[in-house]
Amino acid sequence: MSSQTQSSRSVIIIGAGIAGLSTGIYARLNGYHTKIFEMHSLPGGLMTAWKRKGYTIDGCIHWLTGSEPSSNFYPMWADIGLIQKREIIYPDVFNHIEGPNGEELNIYRDVNRLEKHLIELAPEDADFIKSFCGSVRACSGFNPPVESSDNPLIKFFNNLRGLPKMLTVLPHLIRWTNMPMREFSSRFKNPFLAEAMKNLWMPEMSATTFIFTLAWLNDKTAGYPLGGSLPMAQDVEARYRQLGGEIEYNCRVKKILVENNSAVGVLLEDGREVRADTIISAADGHATIFDMLEGRYLDDKIRMVYRDYTPFPPLLLIGLGVNRTFNELPAVNGGFNIYLDKALEIAGEKISHLDCMIYNFDPNLAPEGKTALTVMVGTKYNYWKEISAEPELYESEKKRIAIETIQRLNGRFPGLSDQVEMVDVATPMTFERYTGNWQASFEGWLPTPQAVRASIPMILPGLNHFYMVGHWVQAGGGLPSGIMTGHDVVKQMCKRDGISFKTR
Ligand SMILES: Cc1cc2nc3c(=O)[nH]c(=O)nc-3n(C[C@H](O)[C@H](O)[C@H](O)COP(=O)(O)OP(=O)(O)OC[C@H]3O[C@@H](n4cnc5c(N)ncnc54)[C@H](O)[C@@H]3O)c2cc1C
Repeated sequence: MSSQTQSSRSVIIIGAGIAGLSTGIYARLNGYHTKIFEMHSLPGGLMTAWKRKGYTIDGCIHWLTGSEPSSNFYPMWADIGLIQKREIIYPDVFNHIEGPNGEELNIYRDVNRLEKHLIELAPEDADFIKSFCGSVRACSGFNPPVESSDNPLIKFFNNLRGLPKMLTVLPHLIRWTNMPMREFSSRFKNPFLAEAMKNLWMPEMSATTFIFTLAWLNDKTAGYPLGGSLPMAQDVEARYRQLGGEIEYNCRVKKILVENNSAVGVLLEDGREVRADTIISAADGHATIFDMLEGRYLDDKIRMVYRDYTPFPPLLLIGLGVNRTFNELPAVNGGFNIYLDKALEIAGEKISHLDCMIYNFDPNLAPEGKTALTVMVGTKYNYWKEISAEPELYESEKKRIAIETIQRLNGRFPGLSDQVEMVDVATPMTFERYTGNWQASFEGWLPTPQAVRASIPMILPGLNHFYMVGHWVQAGGGLPSGIMTGHDVVKQMCKRDGISFKTR
């Protein structure tokens, strides 16, 4: 694959996030010659972490869907070498949320325990609590088919086997899909629960994502991989290379070359043109369609997606290294949410809660006896874009927010101010610089009721030999979207080329 030669069945993949690497692995397993161009110096994209003063700041993983062998996702994680070396833990508490009057809500992994706890907190909401926990129970044990067979007989029997469970789950799917979390939370009469549920995730998200996550937590198939994100990215990259895949870092793709409405190669920022039979973009969706392809391959559906869908908000991620153990707290891998008596002002908004990851459950991320901590704040892209044009203001704002965050945390954990040994602030500009994600979204499209009901095309109208993978072509995003879309696109390519699709 070079500017002169074009090997048969060659593939160029843009981006080495989970989607690009997974696509590369499945393509190699099926005999394609593959080359990934990655603009950053590391594999992983958003699935990453960085080291500061002996601490690791993890920028991604809270829970891995399909982390147990009983899940249909698991063989795929094994295909790409992500899961084999992992030790997975399943903390009892997924989220912990504190209220203004000392209230404490625990989202327990076990649905029976969760139901009992919620009814104790809000007996007035017992009916609604029983109703949604009933849905979680009904959806537990549902193992969505992630790989459909091409063999009609196998497909028929697989469908038949899954039918009874599907029939149980379907009414719950219909019931919750159209309800955004804002409406779900408004069903609680208890003001603390109503507020906590609204802000647990994004209020625009479909309640079905919440119900299914609770079901997977209850099934113990969505755990936290000790060591965090970067070792996973490194293992997947190693698997890709072992299979003979090529990868070039610090190599930004500027344009996708098209001849006679077929994608034929890429133009790199350094001026090189590289050609291949098939081009797959695992990079940002907006940049792919509107910059690399100059908006020439659009239809109403794609226009509608980029006009009407809402991206996940950009994040401010404050990493702290703290010289204490936090052994007195439970392990909480979905977020430890602290109420602030005095709101914190960020990008013109009053922040009354801090959503923290207190990594007292992962000793790999800090020196012995110390703890890594991150604070995640959803923020405004335009604000950070504007102030990044004034480097002094940008830096001083980062510093102010870090100082005030530490002060607020000190209110909840007295003594913390003096124990902080490392501070690091990543803004939406940091995420944009290292991953190119549109509006610095951290997970592609929000799974709103509108977005979860429809699929997003992985091909573009009128453009041959071109595919898109990753969290911009599957609303809800996350690591599963990367591996599922990579797997599916290679399967489609195999069908096109008359190859019998192989996994491990
Ligand atoms: C704080 C945080 C917490 C999260 N928690 C979870 C979680 O608990 N569980 C979960 O499953 N998911 C989680 N996610 C989401 C998950 O990380 C992403 O959805 C997923 O990693 C997206 O993968 P991707 O390959 O589609 O995209 P990306 O990771 O964005 O990869 C795209 C790659 O393309 C490269 N690229 C872009 N443009 C170009 C170009 N022009 N030329 C060359 N290369 C280019 C980028 O550098 C990048 O490496 C979290 C994300 C964040 C930020």
